[in-house]
Amino acid sequence: MKLLEFQGKDVFRRYGIPVPPTGGAIQKPAQLPAALKRAGKGPWVIKAQVLAGGRGKAGGVKLAKTPKEASEIVKNMLGMRLITPQTGEKGIKVGTVLVDKASDIAREIYFSVVLDRKLGCPTIIASAEGGVEIEHLAHHKPEAILREAVDPVAGLKGYQARRLAFALKIPTPQLGVFVKMATALVKVFMDLDANLVEVNPLIVTAKGELVALDAKVTTDDNALFRQKELADMTDIEATPAEKEAKKVGISFVGLDGTIGCMVNGAGLAMATMDSVHLAGGSPANFLDVGGGANAEQVTRAFQIIMKDKKVKAVLINIFGGIMRCDTIAEGVLAALKKIKLNVPLVVRLEGTNVKEGRALLQKSGLKMTVADSLWDAAQKAVAAAGEN
Ligand code: GDP
Ligand code: MG
Repeated sequence: MKLLEFQGKDVFRRYGIPVPPTGGAIQKPAQLPAALKRAGKGPWVIKAQVLAGGRGKAGGVKLAKTPKEASEIVKNMLGMRLITPQTGEKGIKVGTVLVDKASDIAREIYFSVVLDRKLGCPTIIASAEGGVEIEHLAHHKPEAILREAVDPVAGLKGYQARRLAFALKIPTPQLGVFVKMATALVKVFMDLDANLVEVNPLIVTAKGELVALDAKVTTDDNALFRQKELADMTDIEATPAEKEAKKVGISFVGLDGTIGCMVNGAGLAMATMDSVHLAGGSPANFLDVGGGANAEQVTRAFQIIMKDKKVKAVLINIFGGIMRCDTIAEGVLAALKKIKLNVPLVVRLEGTNVKEGRALLQKSGLKMTVADSLWDAAQKAVAAAGEN
């Protein structure tokens, strides 16, 4: 899960990491005057809250000297589609902007904590040359990038933090602040089960103070069971269908096509989507009911798929491994009794007890096409959707 900048900064604040005074995140222009007041005296910086970097260059970060200027910026920014190198050409609609007190920047530093999979521990990546994209720097000037592996149990040691501080040319009076800040950022990384905590830029202000000017935090979804606060936060990237699916333990990603796919296992889901494409169609979603799907989950999966009005046919492709095909067939039939499916259905079952499973489907009398291979199923679904 990715946190928005303002959510990340809220976490930073709780850990004592210096961030700019803030007026908070707002969704409507009417909320601006109060936000400016909370942030304190201007100038202010208005920042589009979207899950993509490179906002600065794309017009998603703007300075305002007067409340009038701020109001113009907020009106234009809310509702605009921000297109950055990370958003794709359609961009992302801006629904929230952050209002912070602007900082007077003397220097921009890059600082992040990432998971080094080879070493199997958190690693700090830092550079005195911040502000620019780190990928660019890594490519053109790799020697400007510092790395410091962190012991996951002991945390960042004082000498490591000081070594970084010297290499980053942190002003001497701020040495203590930097050590605390770096230590706290590693703690955020560990406490949140993050795989990325990035501050780009970490600035030295004109007065020589250190401030985290930006915040990018990505956490591991597999740890959500022990991250109650994160689990309760709304995942703004998720559509209503994706949220509903998550609640019942189904992985669902909405796509643009017309064939609703219900599959077990992520690998099989990918193969199914590829086959649908190869047969000349396009999948309406990626849906993995998981290895132990029950009748309830299959029913919910159908309901989620059918909410998408673009769906012209449904393709069920299930491999009965641990789960037997007859159990799956029963689940599909139970689901079909509960919901009215008004588009053609193509079913392909394979694996344990496949004969019994197919027999159940065939004698149910319900209208569906039973396919006998993945390729056959993909072609039949594409034909049924009228795409070919
Ligand atoms: P990103 O482009 O999405 O990573 O957004 P950032 O929050 O990193 O902002 C991009 C750039 O805008 C920064 O590198 C700064 O140069 C500039 N910027 C952001 N906030 C301020 C501010 O408070 N004052 C000034 N002077 N510049 C800012
Ligand atoms: Mg940034």
